[in-house]
Amino acid sequence: MGSTLDLQPAQVLVIEDETEIRELISLLLLRQGHRVQQCSTAVEGLEQMKKGHFDLVVLDWMLPQMNGLEFLRVMPNPSSIPVLMVTAKAEPKDICEGLEAGADDYLTKPFEPSVLTARVRALLRRSQRQPNESSDGEPAEVLQIGGITLNLAAYEVKIHGEPVHLTPSEFKILSEMMGSTGRVLTRDHLIEVVQGEGISVTGRTVDTHVFGLRKKLGSEADWIETIRGVGYRIRAE
Ligand code: CA
Repeated sequence: MGSTLDLQPAQVLVIEDETEIRELISLLLLRQGHRVQQCSTAVEGLEQMKKGHFDLVVLDWMLPQMNGLEFLRVMPNPSSIPVLMVTAKAEPKDICEGLEAGADDYLTKPFEPSVLTARVRALLRRSQRQPNESSDGEPAEVLQIGGITLNLAAYEVKIHGEPVHLTPSEFKILSEMMGSTGRVLTRDHLIEVVQGEGISVTGRTVDTHVFGLRKKLGSEADWIETIRGVGYRIRAE
C-alpha cells in the first residue's frame, strides 16, 4: 500500500514566524495533498482556529507575543487536534515541557523534509482512525505493528504468532505505546501509566521495564525508539 494513499487530505494550520521555514513546511504539506493555512503568529493562529476546522497544527515554539507553549495552553480542542511542534530548542527538558503541554510530537530545526512529512503522516494516520476503533468501526481490541500483536481483551502479546509473557507493567507500557504509534511518550507520562497499586515508579523504573520489554520482543524490539532524555515511541513504520 502507498504511504500517502491511505490518508485523506487534511486541513493543516502552520504557525511559524520565519517566512522561509513557513513556506517550506507549507510546500511540503501541499505536495502531500493537504490544504494549508499559514500564520506568522500564534494570535493569528487562534483566530484561524475559531473560523475553521483543522486536522493538524504544525507549531513553532519561538514566536513573537504568544509563544508555542502558550498557544498549546489556550488552543481549542487540544486533545482532538494533533500538534507537531517544530523547534530550535533541542534540550530534553524543553522537549518534555512541550510534550507535557500537549504537543504530540516534535521536530528540531533544522529538519529533514522527509522526516517532517513522515511525522505528519504518522500523526494524521492516528487521528483519522477513531480513537480506540479499528478501520471497520469495531473497538480495537487487537493492536498490531510489524510482527507484534497485542490483544487488550485477552491481555496477550504474540511475536510472529508466538505468545510471550509480559509483566503487567510491560504490558501497560506496550499497549500505551502501540495505541499511540508515532507519538512521543515522555517518561512522566509512562510513569502515570504504570503507577498504581501502591507501587512507586520513577523514570528509571520505566527505563527498566522498557529494557525488559525489548528483550522479550526480540527481533521486533527496534519498533521501540528511545528519545534520549525524553521518553519513548513506537516508530510509525
Ligand atoms: Ca520562530
